Amino acid sequence: MSELILFWHRRDLRVSDNTGLAAARRHSPKVVGVFCFDRNILERDDIAPVRVEYMIGCLQALQERYAQTGSQLLILHADPIPAIPALAEALNAKAVFWNWDVEPYSQVRDRTIIDALKEKGIEFLNENWDQILHSPQEIRTGSNAPYTVYTPFWKNWSSKPKAPPVETLQSAAGLTPAEQEIAKNAGAIALPTAKDLGFIWDGDLILSPGEASAQARLEEFTDKAITEYQEQRNFPATDGTSQLSAALKFGAIGIRTVWQATIDAQENSRSEEAATSIRTWQQELAWREFYQHAIYNFPELADGAYRDAFKNFPWETNEADFQAWCEGRTGYPIVDAAMRQLNESGWMHNRCRMIVASFLTKDLLISPQLGEKYFMQKLIDGDLSANNGGWQWSASSGMDAKPVRIFNPASQAQKFDPDGEYIRRWLPELRSIDTEYLVTGKITPLERRALGYPEPIVDHKQRQQQFKQRYQQQKEVMK
Ligand SMILES: Cc1cc2nc3c(=O)[nH]c(=O)nc-3n(C[C@H](O)[C@H](O)[C@H](O)COP(=O)(O)OP(=O)(O)OC[C@H]3O[C@@H](n4cnc5c(N)ncnc54)[C@H](O)[C@@H]3O)c2cc1C
Repeated sequence: MSELILFWHRRDLRVSDNTGLAAARRHSPKVVGVFCFDRNILERDDIAPVRVEYMIGCLQALQERYAQTGSQLLILHADPIPAIPALAEALNAKAVFWNWDVEPYSQVRDRTIIDALKEKGIEFLNENWDQILHSPQEIRTGSNAPYTVYTPFWKNWSSKPKAPPVETLQSAAGLTPAEQEIAKNAGAIALPTAKDLGFIWDGDLILSPGEASAQARLEEFTDKAITEYQEQRNFPATDGTSQLSAALKFGAIGIRTVWQATIDAQENSRSEEAATSIRTWQQELAWREFYQHAIYNFPELADGAYRDAFKNFPWETNEADFQAWCEGRTGYPIVDAAMRQLNESGWMHNRCRMIVASFLTKDLLISPQLGEKYFMQKLIDGDLSANNGGWQWSASSGMDAKPVRIFNPASQAQKFDPDGEYIRRWLPELRSIDTEYLVTGKITPLERRALGYPEPIVDHKQRQQQFKQRYQQQKEVMK
């Protein structure tokens, strides 16, 4: 019997602290990696070129790590449902291992693959939870139900002991040249570029791909910035957050490694403020898991509102307003700066994500689903659970105890970009405007015309009233 185990990488593009890969290497000295560019995913219309570029960079780094130990990371570009079992069969592998995922599509796909493997008599191990610290089965209410509110979730989640980083054995044999030929005949290809796949990203990446650079960023952040996170995290002009989201999305870093770094930082912290800051960052990691559990337990979230009042909400259909929002031409400086940051860098600061999402849903009265999709088309860290959670939170349609919250763009900018530094960085045409007028958006029509900057496309006060009225009506209807 062959001793070969195929390890199928999906959103765990690293070797270190990888639970499934560690298990595979414990089971056999001959472990070969495989990654499949899933045609079903790449053919969707919500794929950001920047995300593909980052992912391919991670795969390149991962291939190098496999090569260092004499093994290979095979690449497929196919529908994984037939392709993974066919590759395993062609190579006479004894098993295929992978880490389980929370997304509805992955779960259905993986179950079909399990059936095909069973039919071929190939073993599988898919039960490793790798991308989260606690599985959805572990974090339940007293009555064994999933949580739908963050605060009690956090209480339970944070009280549980966390696993340390997993040791992944270093040495693993790879395929012989003859087996490499067989793999090629079964569809293995050289790693394509993003352009080969039809995605063009010419800009910089906010984080260099690969596990070494994710690890370096983690170290840099937990060395100092984490102790000031509480104070700095809301100011988009400063680098006060970790910018690790793409690495966490693609698993360029293990979540246990990240958690351990926060524990080490806590042990080294010298003040109450520093310890509080670290706790706040840990809470963000818990938000990430809250939304992952939510999509696992309530897959219907991916299709629309959680709360009844928003299930048939009369959203506006206004293509011109939507385009103005997408392109950063709403006439509200903080909104436009944020959208330009997204379009030009493939990333947006969290405070600004909340501001623009509130603006789209509460000022333009446009469905959060359109915004959610646009974010997926642009974000380097675009991720179904976090993005859907963020949009549902901002639209007030999701799992959130708070009543309708509406952000005022001017007061948000006054509070979080008081010097107008962020706005000026992304809206260079407004550089010359006095800070007071810049952040409040009180720019005269004459100046706007002279600078080529649009008039506000809506009146915030008026639209806020309109939104509230519609919301009240919907609540009545749903009674
Ligand atoms: C409308 C909207 C859409 C969003 N879409 C995404 C998305 O597609 N992908 C994504 O990773 N995050 C999303 N977020 C959450 C958050 O904005 C980003 O995770 C964060 O800005 C990434 O920057 P960072 O790595 O510097 O975060 P840090 O502040 O350093 O936080 C550390 C990590 O915690 C996680 N995290 C932080 N805040 C949240 C949050 N509110 N929800 C879930 N996880 C969080 C991320 O993995 C992040 O990398 C969205 C938020 C909103 C309001």
